[in-house]
Amino acid sequence: MAAPQHVRAAPLARALRATATATATATASVPVPVPVPAGIKSQGTSRRALLGLSEPQLRQLAIDLGQQSYRGKQLHDLLYKSRAKQIQEFNHVPKAFREALLGAGWSVGRSPVHHAVTASDGTTKILLKLEDNRLIETVGIPVDDDNKGSSRLTACVSSQVGCPLRCSFCATGKGGFARNLQPHEIVEQVLAIEETFKHRVTNVVFMGMGEPMMNLKSVLEAHQCFNKELKIGQRMMTISTVGVPNTIKMLASHKLQSTLAVSLHAPNQKLRETIVPSAKSYPLGALMDDCKSYFLETGRRVSFEYTLLAGINDEKEHAEELAELLRMCGGGYHVNLIPYNPIEGSEYKRPYRKVVQAFVDALEARKITVSVRRTRGLDANAACGQLRNEFQKNPLLEIEPSPSTERTLVAA
Ligand code: SF4
Repeated sequence: MAAPQHVRAAPLARALRATATATATATASVPVPVPVPAGIKSQGTSRRALLGLSEPQLRQLAIDLGQQSYRGKQLHDLLYKSRAKQIQEFNHVPKAFREALLGAGWSVGRSPVHHAVTASDGTTKILLKLEDNRLIETVGIPVDDDNKGSSRLTACVSSQVGCPLRCSFCATGKGGFARNLQPHEIVEQVLAIEETFKHRVTNVVFMGMGEPMMNLKSVLEAHQCFNKELKIGQRMMTISTVGVPNTIKMLASHKLQSTLAVSLHAPNQKLRETIVPSAKSYPLGALMDDCKSYFLETGRRVSFEYTLLAGINDEKEHAEELAELLRMCGGGYHVNLIPYNPIEGSEYKRPYRKVVQAFVDALEARKITVSVRRTRGLDANAACGQLRNEFQKNPLLEIEPSPSTERTLVAA
């Protein structure tokens, strides 16, 4: 078996510092003070985004700009029902109000679709071009439930531009980290998927680019918007993490009815550190204790994600060790096995089907509830661990059009 290609380990402390710096830099770019309703924090981009705000917040904004409260309800309908993309499209509100919003630095907060690619199974990866010309990926995964005659549409949303954690099997981690996403930049991913599929999103998984727990504030605000404004049930949402110290407890304190998915990938600390370098800062025992607390606080079972890497962590002994580890966790968990999805430049290999089945059998023999994730979107590089784009670190540069050429976007 070829040795795995482990990328340079990034200690978690350094990654956390990088996140803090990115947030501070973004906040510093907020323009001159404008009326902001109570409870709305600055958004970290050059304009303030309406998307993501609740109806009470929008009513307050209307009042602050000299309008009657019901104008805020109109804004709410324009954002979440009509799906207006620009303030200029707000035909139902007076021109003076539109101008006041623009003058105060507000925008809707929608980004154009830069590119979309659909895999043969219908999974569609959408690239959104953010205000600072960075690209993020979001994935729509349609599932027809033949037995019930219904269909589901899952949105796999990104929470950061890139990711600082550099898990060794993950394309996003290899591409570096640029910044955290603002709440509206997470919310708009679901809207883009709904518009592409012409179908409402029924499920959301925070499993796209980035580590959600390193941008927990924005993730929680987007989660609330999905639930309250887009009417996606809390139980239909999953927040994933590879494990960031102290954040699982913080999440548990919100008592959400959403699933916590913890990317384990190994049954012991030594092996885990080779696959997930940031695990050095978070011993497995402490992680399992925090997962147990999450279940006790919320009553929601924890889903342990385990990417099966051929010859690395997919042997029967690993399954037995995993079963032993989970037993310490008490009840309230589930194991989700993910046969590795190949990425360019990695020497990891996908295990054979019979190896995956043997792993399943070994867990089930020890009464562990287990499922194997169906691979979706492989031919669009939209499957788990494959999200990456070359613009994670470097924003797109705009080249002024010459008379003979179209406006072109290139990587810096
Ligand atoms: S698996 Fe998740 S946490 Fe790890 S590098 Fe990829 S995006 Fe980041």
